[in-house]
Amino acid sequence: MNHHLPEISVVVPLYDEQDNISELHRRLTGALSPMGPSYEIVFVDDGSRDETPRLVDEAAACDPHLTIVHLSRNFGHQPAISAGLAHARGRSVMVMDGDLQDPPEVIPQFVARWKQGFDVVYAIRRHRKEGAVKRMGYFVFYRLLNAISDLNIPLDSGDFCLMDRRVVEVIKNLPERKRFVRGLRTFVGFRQTGLDYERTAREAGRSKYNFSALIGLAVDGLVSFSSYPLRLVTYLGMTTATIAVGLTMWIFMDAFYQRTAPRGWASLIVVVLFMGSVQLISLGIIGEYIRLIFLETKERPNYIVDRYRPAAVLLGNESSVTEEAASASSRDVTR
Ligand code: UDP
Ligand code: MG
Repeated sequence: MNHHLPEISVVVPLYDEQDNISELHRRLTGALSPMGPSYEIVFVDDGSRDETPRLVDEAAACDPHLTIVHLSRNFGHQPAISAGLAHARGRSVMVMDGDLQDPPEVIPQFVARWKQGFDVVYAIRRHRKEGAVKRMGYFVFYRLLNAISDLNIPLDSGDFCLMDRRVVEVIKNLPERKRFVRGLRTFVGFRQTGLDYERTAREAGRSKYNFSALIGLAVDGLVSFSSYPLRLVTYLGMTTATIAVGLTMWIFMDAFYQRTAPRGWASLIVVVLFMGSVQLISLGIIGEYIRLIFLETKERPNYIVDRYRPAAVLLGNESSVTEEAASASSRDVTR
């Protein structure tokens, strides 16, 4: 067991957060230090253009608990979180925003759940202190994502969470480039639980997500966890084809028995519908292949093992089995 490693690391991405840093540092320290000296705060400066880089360096000069990662330019919120996860050393790792929308004071509750044996404790936003349009957008997004993705990503849970070291290792080792962290966190599994909290308004400064950036995040999330939009093309093609067939039948009946439709209209509309459906179905077929290529390129593992217990006969001697059990229980004790 690595006793020199901190019990908890808190990863905070920061982009132009100069007016929040001292308050953030103060409140984080206030929340973490009562739990013991074994903690680390990882500030990731995501290419800030304001005083953020200088302020975090100055804070680190006076506080041995601070780890600072400066990115070479602004890479964005999700990449900044990935950078923080890569550098955090703790046996558990929290991720939170740097604008104090995620209150540091709830961290002990996350840690308590982790000590109970949960590998992932994710925060569920019960209330948001944001504009009505933004709230509505989030509401629709999370429900849509849940409806069409292959995973059950918990509703209204953002990136604010605690993860056990082994979960962090699995996420770090996924070869995927475009990382939608809250989706991957659901993907990896293990014992997960939600924790309600009240999301407050931003403390100072302005939100870095404008409308188009939020839409971008939403599209990334949907596209990397769902291939349903591709399927939709196929369904659309099939629907059009069905309508074309139905209409053709009706037109024939009409031409032979009633002749109400003007001449030429029938052949025209049938050709249009028929060609339309052929094109849509062809696109859908191409889409199916693209979907497979897309899934393959992600190289997500087919499964992730939580625990493995080989048969005692395979080990040759029974003593190693008891050894295994002993080390498993020591892990629980040290938590
Ligand atoms: N952030 C970042 N890089 C970016 C944009 C945002 O590191 O390119 C950080 C930002 O400093 C904050 C967190 O990500 O700590 C969440 O951003 P923000 O509060 O602007 O998003 P919102 O809460 O409005 O969704
Ligand atoms: Mg915010």
